[in-house]
Amino acid sequence: MADSSPKKHIVVVGGSYGGVACVNKLLHYLSKDTNVEITLIEKCDARYHCVASYRALVQKDFAKNLWIPYSNLFPKGSPHRIYRGLVKDIYNDHVLATPIHDGAESSTSSSEPQRINFDYLVIATGSMIPSPAKWKVNSSKEGLRKLDETREDIVQSERIVIIGGGACGVELSGEIKYAFPDKSVTLIHEMPHLVDYPRFPESFKEEARRYLTNQGVEVILNERADIEGLSRENSVQKAERAIKLQKSDRVIHSDLQFFSIGIKVDTGFISTLEPPPDKVTPDKKSETTSFDPQTLLDAKSHVIKVRSTLQLDHDAFPNIFAIGDVSNADPVPTCMAAVAAGETAARNIVKLIRKDEKVAAGHQHHHPHLHQHQSSEAMTGAGNNSDDETNGYNCHSWNKLENYRPTQTMMVLAMNPSGGVSHLPVLGTWFGNIAARVAKSSDFFSARFWREMNMPRP
Ligand SMILES: Cc1cc2nc3c(=O)[nH]c(=O)nc-3n(C[C@H](O)[C@H](O)[C@H](O)COP(=O)(O)OP(=O)(O)OC[C@H]3O[C@@H](n4cnc5c(N)ncnc54)[C@H](O)[C@@H]3O)c2cc1C
Repeated sequence: MADSSPKKHIVVVGGSYGGVACVNKLLHYLSKDTNVEITLIEKCDARYHCVASYRALVQKDFAKNLWIPYSNLFPKGSPHRIYRGLVKDIYNDHVLATPIHDGAESSTSSSEPQRINFDYLVIATGSMIPSPAKWKVNSSKEGLRKLDETREDIVQSERIVIIGGGACGVELSGEIKYAFPDKSVTLIHEMPHLVDYPRFPESFKEEARRYLTNQGVEVILNERADIEGLSRENSVQKAERAIKLQKSDRVIHSDLQFFSIGIKVDTGFISTLEPPPDKVTPDKKSETTSFDPQTLLDAKSHVIKVRSTLQLDHDAFPNIFAIGDVSNADPVPTCMAAVAAGETAARNIVKLIRKDEKVAAGHQHHHPHLHQHQSSEAMTGAGNNSDDETNGYNCHSWNKLENYRPTQTMMVLAMNPSGGVSHLPVLGTWFGNIAARVAKSSDFFSARFWREMNMPRP
């Protein structure tokens, strides 16, 4: 595009479902644009396909599908790059990332944080779900080692207890029982229903319970068991335990316990964010000086609050987007939602870049106070769209930004290689093995995500 406009640098933090979908969409629209550079910052050396983690846990030869190299993500010779590092702080025009070197299992303390500037930033740092769903690691090697250790724990045990009957607990119980039918597997859940998420019908929850029970898993509902030392941070424990249920007198003996409750996001990096001085109009100054980055986060879950355009929910940061599990864009976080949000964020960034180019090409004289980036309200038409020159963010609505629509309610629970239970949109109800097998449980979308990374299947 116009060589006269300054080079734009897009930084995407987090190279998984949301981040990679965003990068691929940006490449799709901007591949011929020599004025744009993309940097993907990711702490791991390969992309972790966590959806397949439980199958890989019980079936060793499936583990090769889990970690997808980044080597072919960007075309050879392109100006784009992958930066291996852990983002610790986010500012309005740069991030600080601690580099992670090959072989290092955690960020080395001697590494100085590096400054990486951006014009546009996409935060796609996702969530933590207790292992063996996701691992707190910075390398594929370490992740695979921990997976192997946990598989060995299962092989060595006879009576397994899983605490937490959300989607992860249900899939974990089903996979273990199917792969090791001689072991006893007990799933303990505090609520009256398994997978007790809003917007899902009881028939689906009941079918999940029935399916697991038929498979031989003992499902205990409406019960709570606190196991000493077992927590989301220490979610796999290999120990002989007599577990006392809280409401009844029943005691369950087990030699391996899994904690499978809750999704957690780490958004501590947002605490350094402040509005850029050039975005402050005199009448807004007092408001801006008292800016508290915590207001960008949901008070309870700590996810980043975004507008329907996926820009941060504050007028001062129209160039920063958050997508996937780390954001509140979807009520139920899923990889399909992260992909859809990544693509929407990419299209909106392309629109903003095109608009900047128009400005650089000579439209400024119509808008003396026009800022480089526009507020999402001005861009979506959600707010006052007139040329209100007292507000430094407003402008003509040349191209409206796209509003992200949360994905339709859908869930596929894969409990073994031949099936599981699904709740699908349009069809609006659950189906047994066939839908689950076709949609997920035979391959866990592995073909799709390896293709997306331009990698041949191992
Ligand atoms: C067992 C299991 C089964 C699932 N099944 C399904 C399913 O069938 N369908 C479905 O739609 N969803 C499913 N999900 C949910 C889905 O996996 C998540 O919603 C999805 O992972 C969210 O993607 P994301 O890109 O937002 O974040 P993540 O997948 O969490 O990725 C975040 C990335 O950011 C990197 N990162 C984090 N912090 C930093 C930092 N500070 N600096 C640099 N890099 C960083 C991480 O290393 C990671 O690569 C499943 C999840 C699990 C665990």
